Order: sequence, then C-alpha cells, then structure tokens
Amino acid sequence: MPEPVRVAVLGAGVTGLTTAYVLLDQGFNVTLAADHFHDAGVSGDYASLAAGAHWRTWATVQDKDLQAIETISLAQLYTLAQQYPDCGLMRSESLDYWQDKAVADNTLWFRQLAPKFRTLSANELICGTVYGASYETLSIDVARYLAWLQQRCVDKGAAIVKLPAKLDHILDIQKHCPEAQFVVNCTGLGARNLGGVQDLAVFPVRGQWLLAKVPFELPNINVIGQGEMTLIIPRGNGIVFLGGTNEKFSWNEKIDEAQSENILQRCLSVCPQLNTYFKEQGVNSFADIGKVVVKQGIGLRPQRVGGVRVEREETSRGLPIIHNYGHSGYGFQTSWGYAQRVLRLIRQTHRL
Ligand SMILES: Cc1cc2nc3c(=O)[nH]c(=O)nc-3n(C[C@H](O)[C@H](O)[C@H](O)COP(=O)(O)OP(=O)(O)OC[C@H]3O[C@@H](n4cnc5c(N)ncnc54)[C@H](O)[C@@H]3O)c2cc1C
Repeated sequence: MPEPVRVAVLGAGVTGLTTAYVLLDQGFNVTLAADHFHDAGVSGDYASLAAGAHWRTWATVQDKDLQAIETISLAQLYTLAQQYPDCGLMRSESLDYWQDKAVADNTLWFRQLAPKFRTLSANELICGTVYGASYETLSIDVARYLAWLQQRCVDKGAAIVKLPAKLDHILDIQKHCPEAQFVVNCTGLGARNLGGVQDLAVFPVRGQWLLAKVPFELPNINVIGQGEMTLIIPRGNGIVFLGGTNEKFSWNEKIDEAQSENILQRCLSVCPQLNTYFKEQGVNSFADIGKVVVKQGIGLRPQRVGGVRVEREETSRGLPIIHNYGHSGYGFQTSWGYAQRVLRLIRQTHRL
C-alpha cells in the first residue's frame, strides 16, 4: 500500500472543514489548522458562524460554472440531511419575492433543480414585489452543522491544530505540519493579509442580523430588491435568523442599533405570522426586543473581485498551495462543489 498523501488544510470555516472531509474520504492524511474554530464563537475572522444560512442561489442564468457548483452542493447537502438527521440541515420551504422582474428572470435557472418549485400567483405576492417563487430548500443550523462537520473529520482521522494566533505567512504551516506535501488555503477573508498570498482582491461584505426565539415553523423568506435583502431563515432549532445588510468594504464589527431596528421592521413587514407573534410577546417597539431576540450580530462575508479562487500555485519552498477562498455570501451552498474542485486539482497535478 502506498503511503497516503499528507495535506495541511489551513482554515476551519465551512470551506476548510468541507475540503478536509472530501480529502479524508479519498484516503488523504489531513491536518486541519486554524486560529479560529467554530467553538470560539462569532467573529469577523470566522464568517461561517455568522451565516444565515440556507441554500439560495447566487448564480445568474449566464453563470453556468457557479450553477454547477451549487447543484453539486445541493445534492450533497440533501444526502447528508437524509443520512444524518442530527447534522444541522433541515428541509424547509423557501418563498422568494422580487421587486424587479428582470432580476428574477436572471436568477431562475434552478426551477428544474429545486423540489416543489412553482411561481407564485399575483394574489400571493407581498407588498412592493412583482414576482415570486416557492420551492423546497435546506436551512442550516450553522453552529450544529460546523460542529458536526468537524467531528466527522476527526472521526475520519484528521489531526486538529488550534493555532495560538494567525499565521503571518502561509508557508509557516510547515512549522505545525512539517510532513505536509501540500497546503490547501481556506482562509476566507484572512487571504487578504496572509503573507505569501496577500490577495487584495478579497474584501469584506458586512452583514448585520438578529436571532429570535420563535417556537413554530416558518418558511424561509427572501425579498430581493435594489436595496438591502430582507431574509428570514428558520434554523430548525426554535431560532430564526433575521437579516440583513450587505455593506461592501466595511470592517465594522460593532452592532448598529438603527440597522437592527430597520432589519426588524423589514422582517415583520414581510411576515405577518412573525409580526403577530412579536406583538403577542409584548414587543411593541424596538426597546422591547429582549423579549424575543436572543442575539444581534455581525458577519463579514469574504468576497473576492473575480469570484472564488480555486487554483494551484507553486512556491519557492516546494510546498504547493491549492487555494479555495473568496466564497462571499454563498460559502455553505457551494462548499461541496468547490471541495470537489480542490480534489480534482490535486489529482490532476499529482496524478493520483
Ligand atoms: C450574514 C451572513 C449570511 C450568510 N448567509 C449565507 C447563506 O445563507 N448561505 C451560504 O451558503 N452562505 C452564507 N453566508 C456566507 C458564508 O458564511 C461564507 O461564505 C463562509 O462562511 C466562508 O467560509 P470560509 O470557511 O471560507 O471562511 P471563514 O468561515 O471566515 O473561515 C476562515 C478560516 O480561516 C482561518 N484563518 C484565516 N486567516 C488565517 C491565518 N492567517 N492563520 C490561520 N488561520 C487563518 C480562520 O481562523 C478560520 O478558521 C453568509 C455570511 C454572512 C456574513
């Protein structure tokens, strides 16, 4: 038997964990290293714990590549949801509303893909929207799913290295994993400042949100327009994510109360059930939100000019890098597709 190929995966967000999982499944020897894992809590350094999250396409009708990636990922997420009911994935209804029909037309490539897809009739539309669709999707309880992914990696034999601080240079990974034959760079926003990468095309897109305790089932609701996107995402654990904002180039990790109030108003205006429930709980103004809202938070989506970077790079020290970063607001719903790309790249270039 040949020795398994040794890989260091740098970054333990959804991208690093999923990449590690796929490589472990193919018999690689994997070390997963990062300065921030899911159990360290929400932070601008770790977008994964700040995500909604659900599968809702970001691909346009023209973007066949992203469509393929999202399709692979959706299929795998469905498989996991079925095989592992406790992994944090839940089937749920999605109601998408558009304020602009042209935007809807440029998005609806997935009518054949999403189960139970149908367009909404005019009397099902909510105020200010001109087009709508209903379909089944998967919602993600991100804390539970990330913990589950990491445990699966450990069960499959991954070594976990919790770094005391960020690496200054990507090749410093050799100090922690001297045997690695290559490194997969899954550092998200960290790729901007990481020595040896310093990709200035990577930038943050700030998203503010609230989490509310809601003891009944709600659909996912997405209102897509020219302004901020309004999002309601049930996580299947009695908690509903309310969003959001999309502020390009903002590193601000402080909660803006005025934004929270605006998010709440938008969410309540598109979901009468939620509005009624909040009133029943005595939430008559923003000052009362403590009766229902359990957390407010910020996440920084790792966006990249030119899209996600998945490619191989040679280095002076002979340790090749496979990059996998820049997943913006779609890191969960593309995670399996891009991890497959990493695998293909390794296999092509190493003839494994
Ligand atoms: C508000 C919000 C809502 C979202 N909703 C969705 C959604 O509904 N669906 C969806 O698919 N996506 C969603 N996303 C996007 C998703 O969260 C991201 O695309 C995804 O989490 C990116 O994961 P990542 O693993 O690439 O990066 P991260 O989760 O940020 O992880 C980066 C990792 O790299 C490590 N790292 C970085 N630099 C270094 C260094 N120098 N040394 C050592 N370690 C380093 C960090 O410690 C961390 O472990 C949302 C994001 C936000 C903020």
